Amino acid sequence: VDAGGVSSNKSARRVLASVFGYESFRGDQAAIVEHVIEGGDALVLMPTGGGKSLCYQVPALVRPGTGIVISPLIALMQDQVDALTELGVRAAYLNSTQDWQVSRDVEQAFLRGEYDLLYVAPERLLTDRCMQLLERGQIALFAIDEAHCVSQWGHDFRPEYLGLSMLHERWPNVPRIALTATATDVTRREIVDRLALTQASHFVASFDRPNVRYHIVEKQDVRKQLLQLLREEHRGDSGIVYCLSRNKVDDTAAYLCTQGIQALPYHAGLGTAVRAQNQSRFLREDGLVMVATIAFGMGIDKPDVRFVAHIDMPKSVEGYYQETGRAGRDGLPATAWLAYGLQDVVQQRRMIDESTGDDAFRRRLGSQLDAMLGLCETIACRRVGLLQYFGQTITACGNCDNCLTPPQAWDGTVAAQKMLSAIYRLWKERGQRYGAGHLIDVLRGKKTPRVLEHDHQELSVFGIGPDITEQGWRSVLRQLLAHGLLMVDQEGYGTLALTDASRAVLKGERTLMLRREADRPVRPSAARGK
Ligand code: ADP
Repeated sequence: VDAGGVSSNKSARRVLASVFGYESFRGDQAAIVEHVIEGGDALVLMPTGGGKSLCYQVPALVRPGTGIVISPLIALMQDQVDALTELGVRAAYLNSTQDWQVSRDVEQAFLRGEYDLLYVAPERLLTDRCMQLLERGQIALFAIDEAHCVSQWGHDFRPEYLGLSMLHERWPNVPRIALTATATDVTRREIVDRLALTQASHFVASFDRPNVRYHIVEKQDVRKQLLQLLREEHRGDSGIVYCLSRNKVDDTAAYLCTQGIQALPYHAGLGTAVRAQNQSRFLREDGLVMVATIAFGMGIDKPDVRFVAHIDMPKSVEGYYQETGRAGRDGLPATAWLAYGLQDVVQQRRMIDESTGDDAFRRRLGSQLDAMLGLCETIACRRVGLLQYFGQTITACGNCDNCLTPPQAWDGTVAAQKMLSAIYRLWKERGQRYGAGHLIDVLRGKKTPRVLEHDHQELSVFGIGPDITEQGWRSVLRQLLAHGLLMVDQEGYGTLALTDASRAVLKGERTLMLRREADRPVRPSAARGK
């Protein structure tokens, strides 16, 4: 370490202690802070709660000039600035919620060099007025928060972020630090490309959250299952229940209230005032359950969220990780619980098919969904699968359902062959594709009106699988989907079709071990004691 390194290190520590009141940096913070103080660009991948803010706040205080923080979270800027002001940091923000006079005052004060940190919304930053303002002041660094918003494929794409590549052209000597909690390789490459961060050092923290216990179950009577989770494992705890649709949020919140659980709804369809009120109650009061769409959560810092429950399957592993990452930020035991079913897969496949966007975009959504389904269906450690998705390798965790109560595997080759042949026959001989319900009726030999109407009782595959229950067949079906041996057809009706890979199973060239679905309660004591 050269002399500059030692001195920047020293002043960084001083700022950390005197301003923020912390004794030491955590994880990569020290290295990041030193790198940025010395003028280097950085890409920081750190899970939510990992301590990203200090990575740019400390350098902004050590370097001369103002640190410009670009953040899409306008609603949180006031809070962030208030918190900093309380610590004696000179901070302000510029965004569309301000009136003209106030933002003029902020601009003037910035030019006089009165701020350590200035938060700016991206759309504001890109205006000519703001560009000219920044040209006239002294800038310590640019921090690009929530940098994954530059990814067109991700779940939080903000077109304005694409404009941020010009920061490098206009201020080649000002260090830039991009931060995100979303960390697949693909996203990382996109951030580097689109923000012109080719020279940046990468700092990648571990994404493991050892105190979070993952538990994924098959959806049956989901309300009942949820209620059981809340009553038996999380009575009186604060938690979040994620649903896919606004209607389901409203219904579920109302239902929980009738069951004596204090639940509040949160989704983009509610008025701003209601949302703000529910959010602030959730943050301040103990033991509230927030039932929400994914609109809820970004930037929420509540340490004692004891559980995050999903009653619909998330669209991607990344989204799932983000959402479950809101549990247990205080480091104490917390649960990430998810109930999913075949209907989730079919419904989401339909949403993808109906979405606007080109083929590549849909394919990408499709493979994200497949990866999520794969995580649900795996018989291996959930945490291994989850972290593998983020390019990180660990050994089995001992704190997920699959580790605590290992699922049994069975040789499902013959069952898979039966199911695949039935799909093939229905299509080949009748020129039609069908959904799960009818397919299973045919396999089990049920003479339903629909079967009789189409004479499906005449097919060779009719009644070849009475030994497996309906639920069992559904499980087989989901696993075939998860293994890419079957697909939900593009036509959008949830009909099923074979894939190229199906042939190997049909021809007996491939055996298939499947997960046995059973009621596998994960003992709360084992989980909690961890
Ligand atoms: P992120 O932005 O990565 O989600 P934050 O920057 O909000 O995380 O930090 C999360 C919490 O951890 C905050 O309450 C912060 O004050 C605390 N924290 C961060 N770094 C340290 C540290 N070095 N020592 C003690 N507390 C820290």
